[in-house]
Amino acid sequence: MKTFRKELWFETRQRRELINITGTVANCLKESGIREGLLLCNAMHITASVFINDDESGLHGDFEEWLEGLAPEKPYSRYRHNGAEDNADAHLKRTIMGREVVVAVTQGALDLGPWEQIFYGEFDGKRRKRVLVKIIGE
Ligand code: ZN
Repeated sequence: MKTFRKELWFETRQRRELINITGTVANCLKESGIREGLLLCNAMHITASVFINDDESGLHGDFEEWLEGLAPEKPYSRYRHNGAEDNADAHLKRTIMGREVVVAVTQGALDLGPWEQIFYGEFDGKRRKRVLVKIIGE
């Protein structure tokens, strides 16, 4: 069995951003040389997510509104976690959107559904953060 590990780094300009990382993850798979197996992709921070959904701007706006409705960024004072930090909303948003995805690797490609795209979801950005890609197989 072969294994492959790589870290992807991100520094967003805004506090919240959704970044399509499907091509970058596919390049990791190519680099690994693995043809059959499983690919894990996870955020290594507790205020960011990796998730799979549609790359459609209307939907991304819907995510922003939905998440702000569930866990609004402000007022910061509404959260017990805030004080030394101001990112309680980002922890909650990350929990809803998920930590990781697992994608099947078939014949050297990501075995995704027709509209499935992999996203990095940043909820407390403007600083360097990373995502882990781990691939196992042969
Ligand atoms: Zn925090």
